[in-house]
Amino acid sequence: MKILLIEDDAVLGDGLSHTLNGSGYLVTVATSGGYAEQLLRAQDFDLIVLDLGLPDMDGLELLRKLRLRKLALPIMILTARDNINDRISGIEQGADDYMTKPFELKELEARIHALIRRCYGGFNDAIVIGRLTLDPRNHRLSVDDEPLTLSAREYGVLEILLLQAGKVVSKDRMAQRLTNDDDALTDNAVEIYVHRLRKRLEPFGVMIRTVRGLGYLLEATTDA
Ligand code: CA
Repeated sequence: MKILLIEDDAVLGDGLSHTLNGSGYLVTVATSGGYAEQLLRAQDFDLIVLDLGLPDMDGLELLRKLRLRKLALPIMILTARDNINDRISGIEQGADDYMTKPFELKELEARIHALIRRCYGGFNDAIVIGRLTLDPRNHRLSVDDEPLTLSAREYGVLEILLLQAGKVVSKDRMAQRLTNDDDALTDNAVEIYVHRLRKRLEPFGVMIRTVRGLGYLLEATTDA
């Protein structure tokens, strides 16, 4: 899951991205509204955390713009202002939840988990494919009830494929979603991660099929 954190306070930004990275999210920090807009044009995110007090624009203005562009992803607003009107306008303009600063990082993290569960309902339930089970709430993978550990990148590839549930994922999309840097991974790097994951999953009746010219597809094989 990719989170765009729009926050100009460096200390809070670092703390938050550290906490969220620790729970398995990929976090990109934008310290201005302008940069956030740029990132949103170039990349897909699954959730936005938006501070309302930004240096170059009012967070509410950015929220309005995003909803006008019909950007449907969940948005959590952060506000330092102890102002009920801001919160009401935020919700009216399409924010899904809000938190007032100061807050405990752990509380924000819990609220983000809850928001993701609410907005990506199906992703709340354990996903079973072949002999593999993924519990997306705690990023836990198991095979016949035994835990299976993957590297962060391998897990990332698997999560993207599982979230697409039976649809082909292009190499470009994979490259872009596996990193929170400005630069997507190279095709070559994606191929390496897919290859490694394929080897790991094959014994458990899970196959990553290469659909030539289109991308990758996760399938259960029948003979496991
Ligand atoms: Ca701020």
